[in-house]
Amino acid sequence: MAKSDDYKGYRGESLKVLQKFNAKVWSDVEIKTTDGDHVGIILPRSEQADEFHVVIKLRTGYNIGISAKKITDIKVTGRKEAHYKIPEKLFPYSPKKPRVKLFGTGGTIASRLDYRTGAVIPAFSPGELYGSVPELADYCNLETEKLFGVFSENMGPEQYITTAKAIGKEIEKGVDGIVIGHGTDTLHHTASILSFMIQDSPVPIVLVGSQRSSDRPSSDAALNLIHSVKTASESDIAEIVVCMFGPTSDQYGLLHRGTRVRKMHSSYRSTFRTIGDIPIAMVSKDKITPLRNDYKRRREDKNVKIIPTFEERVAIIYYYPNMHPDMVDSLIDNGYKGIIIAGTGLGHVNKPLYPALKRAQDNNVAVYMTVQTLWGYVQMYVYDTGRDMMELGVIPLANMLPEAAYMKLCWALGQTKDLKKVKEIMLTPIAGEITEREPSNGYLIFQGGIPEVEEFISQYRK
Ligand code: ASP
Repeated sequence: MAKSDDYKGYRGESLKVLQKFNAKVWSDVEIKTTDGDHVGIILPRSEQADEFHVVIKLRTGYNIGISAKKITDIKVTGRKEAHYKIPEKLFPYSPKKPRVKLFGTGGTIASRLDYRTGAVIPAFSPGELYGSVPELADYCNLETEKLFGVFSENMGPEQYITTAKAIGKEIEKGVDGIVIGHGTDTLHHTASILSFMIQDSPVPIVLVGSQRSSDRPSSDAALNLIHSVKTASESDIAEIVVCMFGPTSDQYGLLHRGTRVRKMHSSYRSTFRTIGDIPIAMVSKDKITPLRNDYKRRREDKNVKIIPTFEERVAIIYYYPNMHPDMVDSLIDNGYKGIIIAGTGLGHVNKPLYPALKRAQDNNVAVYMTVQTLWGYVQMYVYDTGRDMMELGVIPLANMLPEAAYMKLCWALGQTKDLKKVKEIMLTPIAGEITEREPSNGYLIFQGGIPEVEEFISQYRK
C-alpha cells in the first residue's frame, strides 16, 4: 500500500501520472515528454501548488515543473531522499566581539528548499545561521530580525521606509554594523534608495544576497554571508555597500558602493558589478583590502540621519526607436510627478516625443535623462537635439545609473514638489551617484574578473 508521503502534495493529473509509472517522491527518474527528456529527482509538491505539474530537481540543481499531460514515460532508476534540516545551535556570545544586526527581507539568501513541501522557505534565525555557517561567530555577536519574507521584486516604498527606520534605530542603540539579507534581483534598487534615506551612517551597512539557494552545492549564500558579516563587524567603511562574489569562483567578495552597483547577469554568482568606477574593497574570510581611499570612515558617534521620503508616482522610460509619445502622455495623464528617461547613446529620444516632453514641462512633471549604455555620461550639448530637449525641460543626470536616478527622484519628490529644489537635490551628489570622472580601469578591470580575463587572454598568448 502506498504510504501517505509517497506522493507528497501531488493531486489530480500529476498524481495519476506518477502512480501510473510507480514513480514516487524522491525517485531518481528519467522522464520522457512530448517536448523532450529530463533526468532528475521527483520533489514533493506544496499542498497549495497546482495539480498539473510534476516537479523535479535536475542534475544542475535547478527545479523544473513538467506538465503532467506531456509525460509519456517515467523510468525510475533509483531513490535519493534529502533530509534538509538546519541544526539550531545557540549563537555563542563573546563580550569582546562587535555587535552586528542582520535584517532579513527575503530572497534566495533567506531561503532553503523545504523538501517536505517542495516550497522555498526562509531560514534566518541566529541559531539556524550559526548551525549552517558557524564561521559567523568568529567575527561578531549576531542578532537577527526578519523584517519581511519577500522575493525582491516585491520590495517597494513601504519596505524601504521600514528598513531605513529599523536601521536608524539599531544605529542609535549602538550597533557596530548592519547586514541586510535581500533578494538579488532588486538589491541595487534597495541599495540606492537606502543610500539616500540613510545618511552619515557611523557604521557599515552591508546588503547581501545569494544567486543560488543553500540547498545547492554551488550556493554562494554561506560565503557571501561570511564576507558581509566580516565587513559589518570589522571594516572601517561606513557606507551602504553591496557585498557579493567578485570572480565566478569563490576567491573573494567585492564591496560595491550602493549607488554605483548593478546586477549584470541573470545567473552567475559574480553578477554584481560596480559601473563606471572601481569597487570600494575586496573581502575574503581573513582580509578586507580597500581598492580606493575615498570612502566614508567608521565613527564612534551614533548620529545618523534617516530621511524616509518617497513619491510613488515616478517612472523610468527605457527609450526604444519608434517609441510613441503616448508613452509619455499616459504618464502625465495618470498624474506622474517624475520621469527618468534611459536614453540612447549620450541621452537621446526621437523627435516625435518632443511635444509630449513639452506637455510634461507644462504640467510640472520632473523629467531627467540618463543613459542606457550605463557606462559614461549623458551629454546633451553635443547634438542640437540634446539642446532642444533641455529647452523642453529635460535635465541631464551626468553618470547616474537609471535605477539610482529613479530612486533618487522618488526620494527627492517625496520631500518637495518645488522642481527647482528637486533639481538641486538631484544634481548634488550624496552617495557617489554622480562622479566627476569615470576611471578607464573602472570599465573592465577590478570587476572581480581578473582571473577569468587572464585565462581568456592566455589562450591567445601561447
Ligand atoms: N527572485 C529572487 C529575488 O530577488 C532572486 C534572488 O534572491 O537571488 O528575491
